[in-house]
Amino acid sequence: MAETNNECSIKVLCRFRPLNQAEILRGDKFIPIFQGDDSVVIGGKPYVFDRVFPPNTTQEQVYHACAMQIVKDVLAGYNGTIFAYGQTSSGKTHTMEGKLHDPQLMGIIPRIARDIFNHIYSMDENLEFHIKVITTNLSVHEDKNRVPFVKGCTERFVSSPEEILDVIDEGKSNRHVAVTNMNEHSSRSHSIFLINIKQENMETEQKLSGKLYLVDLAGSEKVGDLGVGRVGKEVWAGGAFKNQNNGDPWVAQRFSACLWPGKSYVPYRDSKMTRILQDSLGGNCRTTMFICCSPSSYNDAETKSTLMFGQRAK
Ligand code: ADP
Ligand code: MG
Repeated sequence: MAETNNECSIKVLCRFRPLNQAEILRGDKFIPIFQGDDSVVIGGKPYVFDRVFPPNTTQEQVYHACAMQIVKDVLAGYNGTIFAYGQTSSGKTHTMEGKLHDPQLMGIIPRIARDIFNHIYSMDENLEFHIKVITTNLSVHEDKNRVPFVKGCTERFVSSPEEILDVIDEGKSNRHVAVTNMNEHSSRSHSIFLINIKQENMETEQKLSGKLYLVDLAGSEKVGDLGVGRVGKEVWAGGAFKNQNNGDPWVAQRFSACLWPGKSYVPYRDSKMTRILQDSLGGNCRTTMFICCSPSSYNDAETKSTLMFGQRAK
């Protein structure tokens, strides 16, 4: 993908999870056919992305293929965002978080946490770093004033990868306290993790700041059909999403509105998600969208709609 300094780069990556036990027992069929490393065929129709990861792809392979460069970019002062999009149980949380404390099964966020500090330890000693992480959950449900509300917000300055994982663990236990049914809750809320890195050169007093948003979106079936919905079409048609080099705020607003079911975009002008999208679609951004899919014949329709959504970004 060609990149210049003032351009927004958007990569769309597609990942399929394996069939699970329940699907196998039910006799579901494994429907995707993988071709090369960037295309998948479903029902005779090919879908092409920057990369396609079949079910046997490891967490490490996924990280190497896409996220590692983002760490370098954010330390160089770019804003980066990684989204995971897909229906409930398609592998979004597995991709973004995985098993946080398991070296093999940890997902993108803990690997990023580790690599940020590895880079910092190897950099110029005159640089001073301030790293802040914030976890937020935006519920798809709304309060009585029709404003999406925020639950379980945790904010902390951190000085090691372990402290980043502590903040995530804490955010999770806040969520457990807030709701009894964890599965239902996580499928209905957008989970946002922000790593904010400020650096200052103590000799030259030069300052640099980069933000990295890591967003585990609510299950796509809960937020309406972005792929073929009216608003979704407007946003994605003709690669509109991709061409907003100067950060047209309307694109962020409309895309944000897509993530709240059945509502017009006007009330969300000032929503947190809109601001995140503005940051991640504005100038000098590095955006990666993971399209997460089930391989089961049972989820055929939802999978096609998810793939269509991803294709529109290209
Ligand atoms: P989502 O967050 O999209 O609702 P999850 O990430 O929780 O879905 O995944 C649902 C289940 O499938 C979890 O038990 C998870 O561990 C498993 N899973 C998801 N993706 C993979 C994968 N690529 N390989 C193995 N297991 C996976
Ligand atoms: Mg999840």
